[in-house]
Amino acid sequence: MGANFDLFERAQRVIPGGVNSPVRAFGSVGGTPYFVDRADGPYLWDAEGRRYIDYVQSYGPGILGHAHPAVVEAVTRAASAGTTYGAPTEAEVVLAEMVVERIAGLESVRFVSSGTEATMSAIRLARGATGRSGIVKFAGCYHGHADALLAAGGSGVANQGLSGCDGVTSGAVADTIVAPYNVVPVLDDGVAAVIVEPVAANMGLVAPLGGFLEGLRTACDEVGALLIFDEVITGFRLAQGGAVEQFGVTPDLWCFGKVIGGGLPVGAFGGRWEVMENLAPLGGVYQGGTLSGNPLAMAAGRTTLELLDDGQFDRLAATATRLANGLTDAFTSAGLSAVMPRVGSLLGLYFGERAPTDFDEAKVLADNGMYPKVFHALLERGVALAPGAYEAIFPSLAHNETVIEETIEIAAEAALAVSVLTTS
Ligand SMILES: *Cc1c(COP(=O)(O)O)cnc(C)c1O
Repeated sequence: MGANFDLFERAQRVIPGGVNSPVRAFGSVGGTPYFVDRADGPYLWDAEGRRYIDYVQSYGPGILGHAHPAVVEAVTRAASAGTTYGAPTEAEVVLAEMVVERIAGLESVRFVSSGTEATMSAIRLARGATGRSGIVKFAGCYHGHADALLAAGGSGVANQGLSGCDGVTSGAVADTIVAPYNVVPVLDDGVAAVIVEPVAANMGLVAPLGGFLEGLRTACDEVGALLIFDEVITGFRLAQGGAVEQFGVTPDLWCFGKVIGGGLPVGAFGGRWEVMENLAPLGGVYQGGTLSGNPLAMAAGRTTLELLDDGQFDRLAATATRLANGLTDAFTSAGLSAVMPRVGSLLGLYFGERAPTDFDEAKVLADNGMYPKVFHALLERGVALAPGAYEAIFPSLAHNETVIEETIEIAAEAALAVSVLTTS
């Protein structure tokens, strides 16, 4: 049945569901996942030698495309000097300086090994700094898999159709309040922090309505709660300065991941000194990690951020605009109504009349049965989107004009094939 099928069979015998992260399974679209053999720029090749134009890009880290030569060289050079020490390095200082320089209002940052660790640590820090327990999150936002943050999660949690998560005690979520995205919640003085994706990129793509982020800032200030921007996707992708630069609203704490690691396991959280100095060894909030600030990861992150100047963000946004217009035309010309919201270089794809503004609206469109059909029609023809309707589309700087035009041509054929299927 082919190498992908064989590998999936083997994988399922030794790995639950055959995957190390549920979003990679084809549960919500059906079929067998492709196993990646190698990747280069906008492309990846599977175990059967089939080439795909890749819009997953590891769900965001691949902003330069796969295996960028400068990143490969930096990681190789770092590896030959030792891969981990358990003592601080100059590379950590350099990357921290780069983050502080780029993000207005962020004065201090600590590196961890994943986005989950970043949000989990930021929440603990917010609770420690305020002496309060409550946290507010928004339905459809995904903040990694820490217990307190899984409630009403987007991304894989939504794809699996899970409303909550077995194994999370009621105690662990007792202080989590879930609110609808794009509505400013009423807060009280039990709230330690409000955590939000400034652009929600784990329920497709839902942009913040005018006044939402500003309203959160005001609401937090009124009760003394901290505002946390989870910029694991938006950080170093929307703009050099992330959401602060894009929307002009400054949080108290930021979480980063994905792009900041240049394809290696990195997360980071940071904020104002006054808040950050509550962390051990300065303060009483403990947080640490054996591989935190790992030299390979720092080298990949530094090289990636160095290559991302303002011109590159403009180029990336222009690429995403062309892709969104071309794909939308391709789908609508075939009689499939599609909307592709865009913020910077981030794209969503919904089959319906109107882009959603919250999780309830996103769910109706994501679960209407169209996405799996289009996903497979594209995949068969060599274009890989994420195997789930709740994920964003991630064009990279390696997706040049030729690659984008090829994608649009393939989408036109795929859309016709789906249109024939659904109307016959
Ligand atoms: C991916 C993601 C996370 C979790 O990051 P991991 O590295 O997968 O742990 C957290 N927040 C947001 C917004 C994400 O997209």
